[in-house]
Amino acid sequence: MLNKGQSEEELFTFLSRKKREDIDHDFILSSMCTIPHSVAVRAHCMFMETNLGDPGLFPGTYSLERLLIRRFGSLFHCAEAGGYATSGGTESNIQALRLAKVQKSGTRSPNVIVPESAHFSFKKACDILGLEMRRAPVGKDYRMDAEKAASLVDKHTIAIVGVAGTTEYGMVDPIANLAKIAQQHDLFFHVDAAFGGMVIPFLDRPVPFDFALPGVTTIAVDPHKMGMSTIPCGCLLTRDPGLLTTLNIETPYLTVKQEFTLGGTRPGAPVAGALAVLDYLGTEGMRAVVAGCMKNTGRLIAGMETLGFPQAATPDVNVATFVCPEDAVPGPWRVSWTRRKHLRIVCMPHVHAGRIEAFLKDMGELHA
Ligand code: PLP
Repeated sequence: MLNKGQSEEELFTFLSRKKREDIDHDFILSSMCTIPHSVAVRAHCMFMETNLGDPGLFPGTYSLERLLIRRFGSLFHCAEAGGYATSGGTESNIQALRLAKVQKSGTRSPNVIVPESAHFSFKKACDILGLEMRRAPVGKDYRMDAEKAASLVDKHTIAIVGVAGTTEYGMVDPIANLAKIAQQHDLFFHVDAAFGGMVIPFLDRPVPFDFALPGVTTIAVDPHKMGMSTIPCGCLLTRDPGLLTTLNIETPYLTVKQEFTLGGTRPGAPVAGALAVLDYLGTEGMRAVVAGCMKNTGRLIAGMETLGFPQAATPDVNVATFVCPEDAVPGPWRVSWTRRKHLRIVCMPHVHAGRIEAFLKDMGELHA
């Protein structure tokens, strides 16, 4: 702690210098987050001091959270769905498995089946909740093998997880088949659509992945990814509007006497930001954003193949992967690498056509 405070000018000179040390978004090709939409920033600033952890003090902000859940409920074919705004996919996935554990509280040594491609948040969830995590293999197309997943089910299984838009390869697991398997075995079925939930509904030919499939119990979707909200904003949706109350604990000194959330103090600002983007763009606007990202993904894949770097998978959403040596990408570009050592680029809204062409040009010059 400084003994004597700094002047505002000194302080902000220091902060500006630190900000300049961050990587410019122009070169970030590896992230599932993006530059927030201007209406998200404006709404965020309006609601900066709000705390959804004590909703009785912020009834207006709380009603925005309910509205956000309503928007996603209807987008995911269940207008009555319950849910709340989380800090992102990790919290949504932890809470989904927590719900599954409570639903199946009579099960000894419980296990959950997740695809080998699942996000690492499921490892955290299983560690915290004391669940055995069984990994079902993916097929050659990088989608979860539903038959192999079914063969892992036993009397200790409480839940299956499917991913709609995998982190590494942008694939949608066979959610309809998995939903049937979950129903046959009376299992909780969570769909991690943290990334794909804001892409798939806006594609020309969306694959079924949501509450339209009777076996789906819960869905995670992250506005702070393709929803272009400010960070942090995820949402957990439940088909049964009352399901979350099964997690309720007593909260004696707040305006509400019980809460089911994982966090206590929760920011209202990104919730306002997330709703602002949805209501500003509407379905038409989101379709245009997604169409642009998919077009850029296609152009990137075509360009890389011309340069001699074949795609590793044909993605369902805007994540492109390539067979490419790790030293083949010039600085200052920031890309990432999958566990199988494929080059991975996420064509987020800030990765617009001009940036794809600049990247391809630099790759072409390096490998001429
Ligand atoms: N699920 C999927 C499919 C993801 O891609 C991610 C992050 O990239 C997460 C969950 C975790 O989300 P967060 O980092 O917002 O907690």
